[in-house]
Amino acid sequence: MYKAIIIGTGPAGLTAAIYLARANMKPLVIEGPEPGGQLTTTTEVENFPGFPEGIMGPDLMANMRKQAERFGAEFRTGWVNSVDTSKRPFTLQVEGQGELQAEALIISTGASAKYLGIPNERENVGRGVSTCATCDGFFFRGKKIIVVGGGDSAMEEANFLTRFASEVVLVHRRQEMRASKIMQDRARENSKVTWSLNRTPLEVVAGPMGVTGLKVRNNESGQEEVIEASGVFIAIGHTPNTKFLGRQLEVDETGYLITKPGTSETSIPGIFACGDVQDTKYRQAITAAGSGCMAALDCEKYLEGHAVHDWSQSL
Ligand code: NAP
Repeated sequence: MYKAIIIGTGPAGLTAAIYLARANMKPLVIEGPEPGGQLTTTTEVENFPGFPEGIMGPDLMANMRKQAERFGAEFRTGWVNSVDTSKRPFTLQVEGQGELQAEALIISTGASAKYLGIPNERENVGRGVSTCATCDGFFFRGKKIIVVGGGDSAMEEANFLTRFASEVVLVHRRQEMRASKIMQDRARENSKVTWSLNRTPLEVVAGPMGVTGLKVRNNESGQEEVIEASGVFIAIGHTPNTKFLGRQLEVDETGYLITKPGTSETSIPGIFACGDVQDTKYRQAITAAGSGCMAALDCEKYLEGHAVHDWSQSL
């Protein structure tokens, strides 16, 4: 039985952990299959305040975790299968940890990389298909690779991958990019990045040794063509990790948790959400961290008035 359980260890969850731990709430933090969240799959973070020279994503997350531990946050690894929110304390079924209970929950499970849903894609993950340039770029030294997407992630991954690849072909389904101007400019100034716009991915082409290319439809001519490459990196956005909650909390049409404006409160009192799992707009490390702070303060305030357990005996 815990006062508060935080699910997820990205910047939102870890910031919530730092604040709750410093408030002597002894939070339990459940770390899932992607400890540290999306920032651990990124390279240099240049826009997190306080690091004038930038900081590597994994280092930033490791520092946040250490900071939370220093104040007494407990960490356990596990996959949360389900949460019973029908009565307090809330009950969590956690793979590897059994049943856990908490008076309040902070959900900071973030969002996971989306796939295109085309033939041969999933089968070739690890054989040339990837959603993580930082993790897999190294394997494509001197090779030609494709990055799919027209947002900031695609631009960032394309630029990063030119460190290894001989050529990076950016494939996007429209002529116009969604990416910010600065990110687009960086990719356009990179002579190793070439552009294959107005192309809809149809199928990953692969042989016994793995990926050999991507079949696309040229949306101008309607013709199908194959772009040869040894790797296909998919950078088309993310899906919020809210499935384990069933339909208990209010979500929007794409599954993002809805919070009361200006707060971290979800549709159930005592359950708070922060970070990318509830943010369809900003999705930055610093906004996630800020919302983690809000969730911790909201949670603390809530427990002041609603604790059902006599904590004076246990703490
Ligand atoms: P995003 O902005 O949602 O862009 C996703 C891209 O993938 C879009 O261009 C979209 O095409 C394309 N796409 C989506 N589904 C597709 C499909 N089924 N087939 C083909 N293409 C598909 O996602 P993101 O780039 O991951 O960025 C998410 C947020 O993180 C943004 O707010 C971004 O600014 C931020 N971010 C910031 C940085 C940075 O500042 N360093 C780095 C990465 C991300 P359409 O345009 O046609 O819809």
